Amino acid sequence: MENDESCYCQERQRNPELAKALKEIPEGYCGICEVCGKWGHTRAHPRLPITSAWCDEHWEQLANHKIINLAEIIHFVGLLLILSTAAYMLWQFFTPF
Ligand SMILES: [Zn+2]
Ligand SMILES: [Zn+2]
Repeated sequence: MENDESCYCQERQRNPELAKALKEIPEGYCGICEVCGKWGHTRAHPRLPITSAWCDEHWEQLANHKIINLAEIIHFVGLLLILSTAAYMLWQFFTPF
């Protein structure tokens, strides 16, 4: 699989800001699996427009699994809510009245 190309490990070498954010994570990894909490890699979800971290085992499961499950939908809706709240707050901030 081409997953090693798409995670943050390479970006970590180039981007000092990201390296700082990932300083708790050992070399060779770039995220903490959201399913089991093991060291893993931060990558874009294969089917949803989100980025999260999965260990190799859970990444395989995710990549091989065809149907979007409820947890993924909740994750996505939660992200949309956060984004829309942030957009609303920005709008309030830049609107004088
Ligand atoms: Zn990685
Ligand atoms: Zn895992």
